[in-house]
Amino acid sequence: MANPSLLILAGDGIGPEVMAEVKKLISWFDAKGIVSFDVSEGLVGGCSYDAHGTPLTDETMARAQEADAVLLGAVGGPKYDKLDFSVKPERGLLRLRKEMDLFSNLRPAQCFDALADFSSLKREVVAGLDILIVRELTSGVYFGEPRGIFMEGNERVGINTQRYTESEIARVARSAFELARKRSNKLCSMEKANVMESGILWREVVQEIHDKEYPDVALTHMYADNGAMQLCRWPKQFDVIVTDNLFGDVLSDMAAMLTGSLGMLPSASLGLPQTNGRPKALYEPVHGSAPDITGQGKANPIASILSFAMALRYSFSLGDEATRVEKAVEKVLADGVRTADLMGPDGGSPVSTTQMGDAIIAAMEASL
Ligand code: NAD
Repeated sequence: MANPSLLILAGDGIGPEVMAEVKKLISWFDAKGIVSFDVSEGLVGGCSYDAHGTPLTDETMARAQEADAVLLGAVGGPKYDKLDFSVKPERGLLRLRKEMDLFSNLRPAQCFDALADFSSLKREVVAGLDILIVRELTSGVYFGEPRGIFMEGNERVGINTQRYTESEIARVARSAFELARKRSNKLCSMEKANVMESGILWREVVQEIHDKEYPDVALTHMYADNGAMQLCRWPKQFDVIVTDNLFGDVLSDMAAMLTGSLGMLPSASLGLPQTNGRPKALYEPVHGSAPDITGQGKANPIASILSFAMALRYSFSLGDEATRVEKAVEKVLADGVRTADLMGPDGGSPVSTTQMGDAIIAAMEASL
């Protein structure tokens, strides 16, 4: 059988630096005979604009559609700030998300014990936290029509429309139920069914999908405002949360920040399952291209490495290997290995991007 395929789009700024550490990990898995990928690379963002005059060529788009998973670094940078909107680096990323129809955005909030003191919440509230927020990404109030700023009498009125079809709710609910099954079989759905019709429909559809297709998953419903409070009060009560585009935007940023540095946060965006059962998928760190530290060996590669771990778990059903990567990250952090962004106020000597990658590989070796 052919090896699964990975398309690497390292992008701009620190993207290639952090992706170099992911490539080491891919080679490690290959050398150990655990899993071998057919890896190819392409350009996205500013580097693609420099080479081709567009942030994403049709050819790279087609390769992304065919790959079993896409790993992306970061796009953008000050050099491209003055470009026309239509060719800005971010347009490349948006095109990938749109044309691959990546409607299910996964944002984990995982707090490694060694970094619990970085959180603004008390250690006991966040230490060991491991939750996953699934945000609907391609519909809802950011896309609904009518939208705009209109005149009404002699004043302006701003309008956005929250609109969800049954099938849009159903597909993200299925995605969340599947993810729950790969974790603790527990899902909490959040909306505001108390004040929004779209919330009533959301709750009904999620419940129907549960009853018909996923009765084994423990499903609860919660109003999103209460959800925000509960995430601050005792986030460990949750495992997987599914919610709409707007609430997901806010709740996932909040939950992620419970856990510390931007350099630690992975993400995945999934589409419909393909004929081989794998969803269309793009994995990327939450952070951007960090022009302020580009080329200095200061970037933390952990967000990209944890994004690759998500690919192992969610695209390739290699959950044990994903856990191996996460445990290796946990081990190096517990050993006090830190990139500059993870140094406390007391200072200390940070390791470089490459040294962090090497330490994680050493911990992988030790895990065998
Ligand atoms: P950023 O995430 O690039 O950086 C914010 C801060 O966090 C910076 O101080 C940076 O040094 C630090 N940081 C980020 N990632 C880090 C890492 N891995 N290790 C250590 N420190 C890290 O956000 P920004 O400065 O607002 O944006 C810079 C550029 O990135 C802009 O062009 C923006 O449009 C783009 N951007 C791209 C993406 C993406 O590719 N998905 C996301 C956000 C921003």
